[in-house]
Amino acid sequence: MTEKSWIDEKFSDIEYNLKSISEEIALAAVKSGRKPEDIDFMAVTKTVDEMFINRAIECGIKLIGENKVQEMLRKKPNLNLDGVSKNLIGHLQTNKVSQIVGEVDMIESVDSLKVAREIGKQSVKKGLVTDVLLEVNIGEEDSKTGFMPSEVEESVYQTAQIQGIRICGLMSIPPICDDNAKLCKFFEKIYNMYVDIGAKKIDNVYMNILSMGMSGDFVPAILCGSNHVRIGSKIFGPRIY
Ligand SMILES: *Cc1c(COP(=O)(O)O)cnc(C)c1O
Repeated sequence: MTEKSWIDEKFSDIEYNLKSISEEIALAAVKSGRKPEDIDFMAVTKTVDEMFINRAIECGIKLIGENKVQEMLRKKPNLNLDGVSKNLIGHLQTNKVSQIVGEVDMIESVDSLKVAREIGKQSVKKGLVTDVLLEVNIGEEDSKTGFMPSEVEESVYQTAQIQGIRICGLMSIPPICDDNAKLCKFFEKIYNMYVDIGAKKIDNVYMNILSMGMSGDFVPAILCGSNHVRIGSKIFGPRIY
C-alpha cells in the first residue's frame, strides 16, 4: 500500500469507529435513563499521530485525553483545538505539575494529596483554578495509583480546602475482570461513592463527572452510572509504542 492510501484508510476507520462508538454510547445512555449528550466521549490520543487526532476532531470529538505531560505539550501546537477540551489522564509527577497547569482543561488523575497541593500551588501562582478529578484505586491494586476507597471521602474534604483547585468528580480504572458481573461490582462501588460524596454538598466540591469506562468496558461503565468515557484503541486501533 502506498503511504497515501494507508492514511486514507485509517482516516475512514477513525470516522467509522467514532460513529459506531457514539451509537453504542447513546444506546447505553438511554438504557440507563439518560440522554446521549449526558455522556462525555473522550478520545484518548496517547501514541496517536496528530493528523489522526485532528481527523477525530473533524469528525466531532470535543474532548481529548493524553496521559503524559510531555506528549501533551509536544502535540498541542499541532492540533486544531478550537472548541475542544484537553484533559490529562495519566499519573502526574509532582515535578511536572508546573508545566501542565494552565495547559489542560482538567487533570483527571489526581492520585495523592501531595500532587493536589502542588497543583493548587502552581495554579495560584498563575492566577487560575484547575479543575480536577480524584482518581480512585477501586480494586485496591498495587499496580495502580489513586486513593484507596476507604480514604476517598476524607481526601475529598482535604483537597477541597486547597486553593487553586476545583474538584469536579472522580475517575477510576477497575481491575481487569473476566466477567461483567465482577466488573459491575467495581463500577457500582465507585458510582455509590460519587453519589454519596456529592450528596454531602461539600464547599468547593462539584461531583458532576464520573470518569470510567475505556474501549473494552465503556458500555457496562455507562450502564453503571459513568458519564465520561475515555476511549483510545477502539477509535485509533492498537497502540504502537
Ligand atoms: C490509555 C488509557 C485509556 C484508553 O484505553 P483504551 O483501552 O485504549 O480505550 C483510558 N484511560 C486511561 C487513564 C488511559 O491511560
